[in-house]
Order: sequence, then structure tokens, then C-alpha cells
Amino acid sequence: MTDSSATAALTCWLCRERPVISGASGAAASLCADCELEFGHDGACAWESLVGYLLAHWETIRKLGRFDLTKAFPSDPRAGALSVHLHFLKLLACKLRSSGVPLDLESFASALRTRRAHPDVTLLVADARVAARTLLLHDAEVRLLRNQDGAVQSARWTELRHPVAIKVSYLQPGAPLRPAPGEPWHPDRQRKLVRLSPYVGEATPVAGIQGLRI
Ligand SMILES: [Zn+2]
Repeated sequence: MTDSSATAALTCWLCRERPVISGASGAAASLCADCELEFGHDGACAWESLVGYLLAHWETIRKLGRFDLTKAFPSDPRAGALSVHLHFLKLLACKLRSSGVPLDLESFASALRTRRAHPDVTLLVADARVAARTLLLHDAEVRLLRNQDGAVQSARWTELRHPVAIKVSYLQPGAPLRPAPGEPWHPDRQRKLVRLSPYVGEATPVAGIQGLRI
């Protein structure tokens, strides 16, 4: 590691000025205290609110294969959807930085600073329940796809609040890759209905094709 990359690793990726919270673990390990305070709260609250709604109505949502943002966020569905998007975008960027992944995070930082959705980050909402006696592995790490030069083309990670799974996907524009299979949710596109996606897919490892029989 060169001196410059060692210094960069200790500098907050969002403001690119202040040092990260020393001794912090997880997402905070790549953000400074000011940015964590400024950008951490709103998104986390929106996500807790959404997942609370989803868990409370999951049986119905699972059967319908969709949920309604106007019910999940009755006061302002658009703002709620954007906050959840920015929450997962922030966490993905923190994970990438903490893992030392060489990806320019300026577009992530800019999305948060301007409160605009990132065009290349989408979420998929999935039902993580699998057939009885089948065990599905959950990988909490970010999965990267790189081109032959080693440049990161896509980053995917799944947050699991069983049985609700959120797959977070970054796909670099122009990358010769298919998007994650399913119904990508982006706050600029879906204003009301969000359809569920299959849980088993490229971003989620399964023990064997059909899962590990136990
Ligand atoms: Zn900062």
C-alpha cells in the first residue's frame, strides 16, 4: 500500500476531508463523525420504517408479489423511497471503502450530498424464505465483478432481515453485464408499486443449485 492510499483509507469517502471515526467498526469505519451524523439518520429511519411495514404485512405482500409505497410511506412515498435508496447506497459505498475496493465513490457521495438517486444503483426486494428442509446461505459480503483489467464493473450485496431481503446492486454504465435478475426498484422509476424479485439469483449464493438439503 502506498502512502497516498493509506491516507485515503483513513479519510472519509463522503466529504473527502475529515478523518474517519477512529476505532469504529462497520459502516462508520469509513465515514467521519459529521457525515455519519448528517447522512446516517434519515436513511436509517426510513429503512426501519419500511422494513417494519414489510414485516407486518409480509404474508399479503408475498402473495401479491408487490407492495405499495403509498402505504409504506403514506405521508411522502417519494421521499421515503429516496431515503431508503440513499441508505443502502451509503452502506454499499462504506462496505466498498472498508474493503479497500478501488472504485471511485464520488458519484455515491454526490448522490447523498444532493439527495438524488444514483442512476446505477438499484434495489431488489425479495422473499428469503425457501422450501422446507432447504437451507439457503446468506452472504453478507459484497460480491464484485471485474473486467480483465481488474476494474470493478459491478458490486452486489444482500441485506437480510428475514424473511425480507434487500439486494443492493451497482452496475457501472456500459459494463457488458446483465442486471441482477428480478424487478429493480429505483426511486425515480417506481412511484407506487414495487414488485418482489426472486431471492435466489446471481447475488445470492446457494449451496448447490437447489439449496442444501438438511
Ligand atoms: Zn465526512
